Amino acid sequence: MALEKRGNKRYMSFAVFLDVDGVLNTRKTVISSPDGHIGVDDARIEILAGAIEKYGGGDIVLTSDWKNVRIGGDLDYLRDKLMGYNLEISAVTKEHWNKRGQGIQDYLEEHPKIDEYIILDDNRFDFEDFPRLWERLLITDGIENAAFASKTPAVEAIIFREYIKELS
Ligand SMILES: [Mg+2]
Repeated sequence: MALEKRGNKRYMSFAVFLDVDGVLNTRKTVISSPDGHIGVDDARIEILAGAIEKYGGGDIVLTSDWKNVRIGGDLDYLRDKLMGYNLEISAVTKEHWNKRGQGIQDYLEEHPKIDEYIILDDNRFDFEDFPRLWERLLITDGIENAAFASKTPAVEAIIFREYIKELS
């Protein structure tokens, strides 16, 4: 399962669609970002990094408002924080308003090589409109508290959540 390899080439591709607030921090986080918002917690990034590594590697696609709103130093701050754990943002989704599920759906259609993915988010947005997304959504209260959105989660979500639990 996960990433089988042919020679050095992966032929399966895994992506994590990442929200930031409520995943890499909670309202109890006391660290501030450079622009004075709630920052991100190293311990939570470490869990994310560990789970991706256990999965066999994968791309991070940023879904969070941080991609739009944190145009000052905050996005650099986030990139630096992730870099500290050898993670980088591969891409960002585009969507209008709170249609975050639609944004992911569009991204997947444009990137057909992604055949396994999970979504980390503390909000439900429009995800339930897309059954395949819903089955891959882990609703967080901080990444260490990740719950299945669906009653019938996809295998990627089951595995990734297990890794999170092992690392928490
Ligand atoms: Mg959030």
